[in-house]
Amino acid sequence: MTAKIISGAEIAGKIREDLKKEISELKEKHGLTPGLATILVGDDPASKIYVGQKKKACEYLGIYSKQVDLPSETTESALLSLIRELNKDAKIHGILVQLPLPEHINQQRVIYAIDPDKDVDGFHPVNVGKMVIGEKSLLPCTPHGILELLLSSGIQTQGAEVVIVGRSNIVGKPILNLMLQKRPAGNATVTICHTMTKDLAFHTKRADILIAAIGRPKAITRDMVKEGVVVIDVGVNRIGTNSEGKAILAGDVDFEAVKEKAAAITPVPGGVGPMTIVMLMKNTVEAAKRAEVRGQRSEVGSANLKVN
Ligand code: NAP
Repeated sequence: MTAKIISGAEIAGKIREDLKKEISELKEKHGLTPGLATILVGDDPASKIYVGQKKKACEYLGIYSKQVDLPSETTESALLSLIRELNKDAKIHGILVQLPLPEHINQQRVIYAIDPDKDVDGFHPVNVGKMVIGEKSLLPCTPHGILELLLSSGIQTQGAEVVIVGRSNIVGKPILNLMLQKRPAGNATVTICHTMTKDLAFHTKRADILIAAIGRPKAITRDMVKEGVVVIDVGVNRIGTNSEGKAILAGDVDFEAVKEKAAAITPVPGGVGPMTIVMLMKNTVEAAKRAEVRGQRSEVGSANLKVN
């Protein structure tokens, strides 16, 4: 069996075009321009690339973007007061603080400081709590992107054995919660593995859908999966540089070997990554529409604005 390649780039492209149309309508019909503020502290090269990609996506879509680059010695209190200012800024509907932050800044305090209505990363405990109990909320971008990938590829999650490797707050735990929800892109039986899991291969071999969010290149090998598995590879690992000095990336899955056994698999790059960015844009648009509805509920202009 050779796997169908699930192209995140293609699926994200379709969502992006729909969003572009929606944003232009929001501007024309409602005078509403969604706005995203991105804060980068320090000069981590990977973070710089991610922030650059987000800015480019905003420009393409017509989202107002404000990028704030701060030196690595920025104090926590300076960062918190910037967030408080952005919380009050009516032009900004989404605030993203690029992680990781320098060690002297408490990441949790920063996440708590963001207005949950502007938390387009979906990391604030209010949004995490709503997600867990199945209420509408701003969903974390990578897990939400994975759901969309599965849905758009026609992959059935209802009743499926889903095995997740990795239990981080940004990927593993939220995808666990989303897969458990009583709705079509959920209803799965979910197992989550980590470094204390006794026999990792025992679990991965049972998976109908295997989601790898480990951060170790090619950690999932051919002998760890069953024939016909659907593999979602979240990992982005820099394993060297090419002759042009560009990073060579590898996922957490041994793509070449596993694709011979899998029914479907996401590549790295071009799989989960593009979905993460487009879901961030979608969250920003959603946050803008919700802010508009909240602020002008009685006004005619926003009366027919639909929010999810
Ligand atoms: P993380 O916070 O480092 O978490 C890694 C998880 O993998 C931990 O739960 C860890 O277990 C588990 N793990 C590590 N080695 C393992 C092993 N040998 N066996 C079983 N479990 C093991 O990483 P993350 O933030 O979730 O990110 C994971 C990967 O996804 C990274 O490569 C990251 O770059 C990538 N990523 C990609 C996107 C995207 O948009 N494409 C977005 C986010 C992350 P313990 O908890 O026991 O330590």
